Amino acid sequence: MVWAKGKGARIATWEIMPLYVVLLGAPGAGKGTQARLLGQALEIPQVSSGDLFRGNLQQETELGLAAQSYMDRGELVPDDVTVRMVIERLSDGDCERGAILDGFPRTLGQAAAFDGALAYRGHQVAVALLICVSDETVIKRLSGRWICRDCQAMYHQVFDPPREPTRCDQCGGRLYQRLDDQPDTVRNRLLVYYKQTGPLVGYYFARGILREVEGEQAIEAVHADLVAAVRKDDHSEISFCSGAHA
Ligand SMILES: [Zn+2]
Repeated sequence: MVWAKGKGARIATWEIMPLYVVLLGAPGAGKGTQARLLGQALEIPQVSSGDLFRGNLQQETELGLAAQSYMDRGELVPDDVTVRMVIERLSDGDCERGAILDGFPRTLGQAAAFDGALAYRGHQVAVALLICVSDETVIKRLSGRWICRDCQAMYHQVFDPPREPTRCDQCGGRLYQRLDDQPDTVRNRLLVYYKQTGPLVGYYFARGILREVEGEQAIEAVHADLVAAVRKDDHSEISFCSGAHA
């Protein structure tokens, strides 16, 4: 009963080690929403790289100022600055039991540096979850997205329209469409995703910790599958979500 022994060992390990969950998926796959729900279900915080950047820039931390200096020169923020921001966040007390990582790592370089930094502390990524959606779905979802200028609430002209066309239901703020979400640029964002972040699918697959979930279902169903995937200890069904990368 080798598998039973392995299963028991994995569960025992999680009781000591923080549960770090990496969420992967194309833009528009629903990572942000699912990260929040998964965090609630597993009782660990959602750590979004976008929030981390904004927070560090606003508070003018050492890392925020370092990142700013690169951005001011029109350069990419080096992976080690980004990784240090994440590691610093994971040292906070509320991440003691783990965290859901949303929007990070974004590149192979970041993933490798992150693994190195975790290994230094005797930790590791427990599981990488890939939310699979087709290109057609991504384009349909993203090109209809509207965001509140004031509270960043998101709406969709087809799936989740606001009561008034240009006003936020929650705060009355004005809604706008990001340049990124306009149809012409969505295809380019997808290409960047496949080029930069796509290789992470193979990276985590090779480490035996990738699990994929069908993203073209109701939010609750995707959520249930993600929770099950985190708890599942059998990697044998992985198939690189057929069709989603076509
Ligand atoms: Zn609002």
